[in-house]
Order: sequence, then C-alpha cells, then structure tokens
Amino acid sequence: MYLKKLEIHGFKSFADRTKIDFDHGITAIVGPNGSGKSNITEALRWALGEQSAKSLRGAKMPDVIFAGTEKRKAQNFAEVTAHFDNTGRYLDSDNKEVVVTRRLYRNGDSEFLINGKKKRLRDIHDMFLDTGLGRDSFSIISQGRIESVFSSKPEERRAIIEEAAGVLKFKTRKAETESK
Ligand code: ATP
Ligand code: MG
Repeated sequence: MYLKKLEIHGFKSFADRTKIDFDHGITAIVGPNGSGKSNITEALRWALGEQSAKSLRGAKMPDVIFAGTEKRKAQNFAEVTAHFDNTGRYLDSDNKEVVVTRRLYRNGDSEFLINGKKKRLRDIHDMFLDTGLGRDSFSIISQGRIESVFSSKPEERRAIIEEAAGVLKFKTRKAETESK
C-alpha cells in the first residue's frame, strides 16, 4: 500500500485543483516559507479523518477552506482526494486502488467517500487504523510533533507503539464491545 496521488482543491492555500503524483522512492517537497508545504501533509491528514481544527492550525474546521486573497475570491468548499495503491490488498478492500475523498462546505455540510461511495467518518478510521496511516499514526510527523513523542508519558508512548504494531484496532473493538 502506498500513496500514489493527492488531489487538493479549495483546501488552505490550494485554491485551484492541484494534483500531486508520488513516484516510487522518496519525494521531497521544497519551497519558500509559507508556500504550502505543510498544507500538503495537512490535506492528507484531513482526508484521512482528522477532526481537530487546532491540529490543522485553525480555530474551526471551515478555516481549512481557501479563504481568498486580494486577487482571488474565497472558495465555498474544500476537497481532498487521496489515491492509495492497494494491489497487495493491505487495506480491507477488494479494489486495487482505494480512493478516499473528504469534502467540506462553508455551511458545515461535509462528506466522506471511499471509491466514490458515501461513507461515515468511522469507516475511514476503520480502514486506516493500524495501517500506519491512521489519523493518529506517526507516519505523518509535523513540525513540533517530534518533541511530543519524546516528552510524552509512558502510556502515550505505549499507544504509539501499539498503533505501529497493529494492535490498536483490536483494543478499540474490545473496548467498544465491553461498553455495549
Ligand atoms: P514553512 O516553510 O514556513 O513551514 P510552508 O511551506 O509549510 O512554510 P504552509 O504553512 O503550508 O507553508 O502554508 C502557509 C500558507 O497557507 C500561509 O500563506 C497561509 O496564509 C496559507 N493558508 C492557510 N490557510 C489558508 C486558507 N484557509 N486560505 C488561504 N490560504 C491559507
Ligand atoms: Mg511548514
């Protein structure tokens, strides 16, 4: 499983539909301060179900929608689509490509899609939990988050290791079953 392509439209500084193809090997994104490098990783985290506006450097979720500039008017919605190669069937889907889309309108309406079908946030979490790519996983480390790993409490560090080892899904399910 690997990220093949990211399409960003109306998300943060990406007013126009922008496609980013990721080839095999390492991709480095370079650019001046404020050019939108961090916004790219935030777009991916958002598509995978990030629910904290603060961790996306905003006060409320609609802050991720392109706010306009002197020359361009604001967008009415933000949309991010992530394409994952799934030929190895690592993700729980029979599709060779898993395509996840998140869309948010200014009026607060939002939706998630997997391969074009409407899904719940929970379905997105289920699909990516324990794959190393989930919302809380450590495969996406933003500026400032490295210290938080080193300074976190032992229980928090344990949770990081559990997510990496792939046992978090089962613990989450067990807790849900026990609470029923
Ligand atoms: P650095 O090298 O300093 O880390 P960067 O390349 O990571 O910079 P980002 O933090 O990704 O840059 O981008 C910040 C830019 O995104 C700012 O110019 C900010 O105005 C713009 N931005 C953030 N949210 C929005 C929004 N909703 N609408 C329009 N522009 C936005
Ligand atoms: Mg940055």
